[in-house]
Amino acid sequence: MQQSLEALAGVVGAAHVLTGSDTARYVVDERGLFHGRALAVIRPADAREVAEVVRVCVARGVGMVPQGGNTGYCGGATPDPSGTQVVVSLERLNAVLAVDANAYTMTVQAGVVLAQAQAAAAQHARLLPLSMGSQESCQIGGNLSTNAGGLAVLKYGTARELVLGLEVVLPDGRILDRLTTLRKDNTGYDLKQLFVGAEGTLGIITAATLKLHPAVGRHTAWASVRDVAAACALLADLRALSADAVTSFEYISAHSLGHVRRALPALTPPLAAGEHHVLIECLDPEAEPREESAVTRALAQALDTAGVEDAVLAQNETQRRALWRIREGIPAAEKALGGSIKHDVSVALGDVPAYVERASAVVRARWPEARLSIYGHIGDGNVHFNVLAPEAADADAFRRGEGAGISTALHDLAHAMRGSFSAEHGIGVLKRDTLGHYGDPVALDVMRALKERLDPRGLMNPGKLVPVAAAV
Ligand SMILES: Cc1cc2nc3c(=O)[nH]c(=O)nc-3n(C[C@H](O)[C@H](O)[C@H](O)COP(=O)(O)OP(=O)(O)OC[C@H]3O[C@@H](n4cnc5c(N)ncnc54)[C@H](O)[C@@H]3O)c2cc1C
Repeated sequence: MQQSLEALAGVVGAAHVLTGSDTARYVVDERGLFHGRALAVIRPADAREVAEVVRVCVARGVGMVPQGGNTGYCGGATPDPSGTQVVVSLERLNAVLAVDANAYTMTVQAGVVLAQAQAAAAQHARLLPLSMGSQESCQIGGNLSTNAGGLAVLKYGTARELVLGLEVVLPDGRILDRLTTLRKDNTGYDLKQLFVGAEGTLGIITAATLKLHPAVGRHTAWASVRDVAAACALLADLRALSADAVTSFEYISAHSLGHVRRALPALTPPLAAGEHHVLIECLDPEAEPREESAVTRALAQALDTAGVEDAVLAQNETQRRALWRIREGIPAAEKALGGSIKHDVSVALGDVPAYVERASAVVRARWPEARLSIYGHIGDGNVHFNVLAPEAADADAFRRGEGAGISTALHDLAHAMRGSFSAEHGIGVLKRDTLGHYGDPVALDVMRALKERLDPRGLMNPGKLVPVAAAV
């Protein structure tokens, strides 16, 4: 062990090999569900050092856990409790390498925090459309490794759709340089996509080239609607009326709004009444938010339908931010109320109302005292159907006792509707067995074959994502 640490210190410098209590914030996941131990946290400075760290670890049989902002929801960035693995933190690879406004691309090191990448693009009047509640902490490398979704997938796609090129350190220490800005390149397999959503199990992403979009005006509205079906109908109408200008369409149930009100009283929802709410954002090349334009007329027309009970339009950036803070405050509110049993399901858009209704009925029937929090990227068919412990109950005990049963019921329902049990948060360690249970056996075989070929010693993020093969 000591020799491994000395060899690693020889690569990154002793100051960047953290041990003991200095590792504390790197060995617990965002939700506090997974508590690991690390031989050390290694903080390389560039791709060359990452590659050298990997070679040292492979030579000594040391498991490596890549870590970005450590905001992941599935424990993928947490080392196991053995104390034999190293966390490879990408936080020092934090340079924006290039922004090409004319080509609408930017190249960044993997440890650049998402909000910093957005700001760098904005300085060139360009938009990096990936956005999510964790954007002040999560990193581009983590976003790509989880194929993050977030708040603007409806228009711009998931992280996968925003990547043009990658630089990756493979599990044998070689550097795969696919850091291209080309938009067209049909020279064989699209290898970069292998590492997007791989959660650090096939290599360590060290840099990425991303697609940018024009920075344009936005209009943001909050509406209360009759039910979830009315929300879906509103989205369909608005897309048609606005020539597909909708970038975000977020559902917020009165349950979730209630949790925000209680845990974060400084945030005031714009509409006091209503069981079902949506937060809508449209892009608008024509106008600043307050001016009338084709998009504002489309919004007004779409909001003037029977299914919409009430609506407000943000009049300026301050009001817009206030609306988003409420939506983005939901995870923090749940955490403040003891945490939730999270479900990140997706179903076909047309099935969203039925899923919400049936899932609510399942929980009400079996766990009548449990509190719900239903919200999410409904425009992508992605529902966060979270369950909080009953008011007076011990949240941890409830999660330990009932969590598995609740999750099985809600995942079974999504599976029966041909949906996914993990729309955007990935697999990590939390859902590895769930993937083994619901995953297509052929797809699982291909995943295992790729993992074994690229990482035959199983040292790259051991125990994450890839389900163990069933014994025959
Ligand atoms: C308040 C809040 C809101 C959120 N909202 C959303 C949302 O809307 N949509 C969404 O998709 N997610 C959301 N998340 C989850 C999380 O922020 C995303 O999964 C994010 O992409 C993780 O990035 P990270 O840098 O924190 O990665 P980490 O948590 O550090 O790591 C996640 C996984 O990626 C691997 N990894 C990290 N960096 C690298 C790298 N450079 N190379 C290889 N592997 C790497 C890790 O090993 C791990 O398996 C939210 C989380 C919070 C706390």
